Formats: sequence, C-alpha cells, structure tokens
Amino acid sequence: MFFAVITLFPEMFDAITAYGISGRAAKREVIQVTCINPRDFAKGNYKRVDERPFGGGPGMVMMAEPLAQAIDHARQLAQQAGCVHTPVVYMSPQGKTLNEQAVQDFVEYDGLIVLCGRYEGVDERLIQLYVDQEWSIGDYVLSGGELPAMVLLDSIIRRLPNVMSDDQSAEQDSFVDGLLDCPQYTKPDHFQGLDVPEVLKSGHHANIEKWRFLQRYQRTLQRRPELVEKVELSPQQKKWVKDLDS
Ligand code: SAM
Repeated sequence: MFFAVITLFPEMFDAITAYGISGRAAKREVIQVTCINPRDFAKGNYKRVDERPFGGGPGMVMMAEPLAQAIDHARQLAQQAGCVHTPVVYMSPQGKTLNEQAVQDFVEYDGLIVLCGRYEGVDERLIQLYVDQEWSIGDYVLSGGELPAMVLLDSIIRRLPNVMSDDQSAEQDSFVDGLLDCPQYTKPDHFQGLDVPEVLKSGHHANIEKWRFLQRYQRTLQRRPELVEKVELSPQQKKWVKDLDS
C-alpha cells in the first residue's frame, strides 16, 4: 500500500518505517511511505507555510497554497506507484473518531494521502477543495497531526495481508470480531502469588478455546457492554453463553 504523508516533520515517520511490524513491512516493500514537506513548495526566502489568522486571535494557520501543491505532488507519486484511488485524509480533532471498522475500510484502498496539521490548523478552503475525509484519534487535542497520522498508518499496516505472520495474527485482537481480547499469560507459571489458569496449560484445545471465548465475552460485558450488543455469536458461542447464565 502506498502512503504519502504531508508533514513539516518528516523525520518523525522513522517511527513507522524503521521499527517493528510496520518497519518490516517497509523493508519488504509491502508498504511505501513517502513524506512530503509543504515547506518545499513554499515561496520566498523564508519558505513560510503559516500566516496569522484573518479576524485576529492567537496562533498561526497553515497556508493553503503550499499544502495544495504538496497534495498535487502526492497525487502524482500515487499515480506513478499505480494507485487507482488515493483519498486525501486530514487528521483533525474535528473528524470522525477512528475505530477498527474504519481501519478495515482503509485497508481496501491501494493508497492514502495523509495531511498533518500544525499550529491552529489548516486554511478551511484547502480542506474544502482537497480533503476527502477528516479523521480524529480521540476527543483531545495534540500539537500536530503527525502522531495521529502514525496511529492511522500503524493500525492500517498491521491489518494488510502478508504483514503479520500466522503466529502474530491480528484476527484475535480486540475489536476485530467485536469483542475485546482475552487475558494473556506467559512463563513463569507463578508470579508474585498469581498462577496461570490451569486450562491454558492443559493442552486441551477445545477447553482452551471455550475459556478464551468466555473470558473475552465477560471482559467485554464488564468493560464495554455497548459492544456486546452488536456482536454476532456463532451457535457454539451462544451455547457457551447460555451455559454460563444457567
Ligand atoms: N485548533 C484546532 C481545533 O481545535 O480543532 C486544533 C489544532 S491542533 C493544535 C494542530 C493539528 O494537530 C491539527 O490540525 C490536526 O492535524 C492535529 N490534531 C490534533 N489533535 C488531533 C486529534 N485528536 N486527532 C487527529 N488530529 C489531531
């Protein structure tokens, strides 16, 4: 998948391209992450990308012109990379809140152009003319769109085919089938007075499957009851829940 990130701080994206699962995906060229600095498209000796807001008030606003040129350049690169549909996403606290379903929808695209704001944000006309979607990572405000963009990229990359190995499968993760994940344990058997549940050491796969499902179900019921209402359980899972209630 092709990603073009419009950012004043391209170095920050080493966190995506050099480390962990996303870093391996970059090395294996399953993903391509290109950072485009709007300053490279700014005019004048000072290469200004921000100006005072019309109407007064504190802070600065990112100017439309360098961003527009940066996005046009990103679109050209996406085309050269063979992308057919590459939406422009603006990371913004005013956007829709990102969730696992949205991430899975993003996986369907062959490319994405992600715009990171700074200062008080971006000239509204740039958003009107160039941005297809606005996404937030939660109801709080960060200093810039780089961390939100990295959250978006990482969440997409780990869901791409051939990125995670079988023993790392994302299918078991929280939210993927609507439930939270079950508790996890590893060596040693005993830790500060707490033991690993016996069933996990039994080697009895059917019992382990049932235990894990019921842990996930009960945990979701306790922590995020609104999620349980939307989950479609298999006949077997319904039976396990019914046995639990009786
Ligand atoms: N004045 C803006 C507002 O209140 O809506 C906030 C600007 S914020 C200081 C600068 C940039 O950080 C934004 O343009 C956006 O790109 C990014 N940003 C901040 N919080 C975010 C969030 N929760 N989700 C996504 N992006 C965010």
